[in-house]
Amino acid sequence: MIDYQSIIEQIHNDISLRKNYGEVASYIPELAAINTEKFGVSLSTIKGQTYHTGDWETKFSIQSIIKVLLLSMAYSKLGGQLWQRVGVEPSGTPFNSLGTLENDAGVPRNPFSNAGAIVVSDVLLDLYEDPRQSLLAMMRKVTGTDSIHYDAKVAASEKTKGYRNVALVNLLKSLGNVHNDVEQVLDLYLDCCSIAINCKQLAKLFMFLANHGETIDGQSNLLNPSQTKRMNAIMLTCGFYDEAGDFAYKVGLPGKSGVGGGIVAVLPGEFSIAVWSPRLNEKGNSYRGLKFLEQFTSATGQSIF
Ligand code: GLN
Repeated sequence: MIDYQSIIEQIHNDISLRKNYGEVASYIPELAAINTEKFGVSLSTIKGQTYHTGDWETKFSIQSIIKVLLLSMAYSKLGGQLWQRVGVEPSGTPFNSLGTLENDAGVPRNPFSNAGAIVVSDVLLDLYEDPRQSLLAMMRKVTGTDSIHYDAKVAASEKTKGYRNVALVNLLKSLGNVHNDVEQVLDLYLDCCSIAINCKQLAKLFMFLANHGETIDGQSNLLNPSQTKRMNAIMLTCGFYDEAGDFAYKVGLPGKSGVGGGIVAVLPGEFSIAVWSPRLNEKGNSYRGLKFLEQFTSATGQSIF
């Protein structure tokens, strides 16, 4: 039996004592105001135990981690048909890249790039009457708390300076892969990125990906087992943009990061783990979050490989 509590505390202490590196995402002014030294961890196991340390109760901005849930909402309804609109290949490019889109005829390489998530947001506007409400209701139900919410300040802040996303949605529209109004699509995407959540809620939320698509309370199936396998494959290959190979190599778990400094990763059949530390490396992934997970899978020997 692995003593998760003492392992996560030990690694958290060890990393906290060392110099912290990286910058916060200043292109979202509201995120730049955050205390950069926050550092929280939460782990939920398939057997129902939870372990936490550090700032695990403090809320932060979910940002790109939400792309996994947006994709799940679209994929559960459309199945493989969705891949006509967005691919499943690692891009090897930064999250906000415009580079390959024109040559790829407006079909983003994968759903975890901003381009891909914008297309998925467009799909959701066609599939759901009120996608914001459906997403929030699902998140609240799965985590058993009403305290998860959209953060209007963060969303508004990103809307003032999110020039690359404005460019992306317009390029996608011009290439015919956005069907709805560009403002409507971008608003949905940015609102979803703004959601405030803490490590404990995030770990709980992602348990379905460790549990064949079924929520941990056994009440609903967000995805079927085959879709869950594929979702984990996309997280492993594309979850960290041009650092996905490095994450697979060092950590060995499917996961997803966000520029709010959060990272969540799962070991199918075992656990889900969420880490938050706001300073980001040059690839836009949490510096301490990556360090923590690398040490965690090394110390426990728990990875998919
Ligand atoms: N809202 C952010 C953006 O679109 C999300 C990016 C991220 O977390 N990597 O730029």
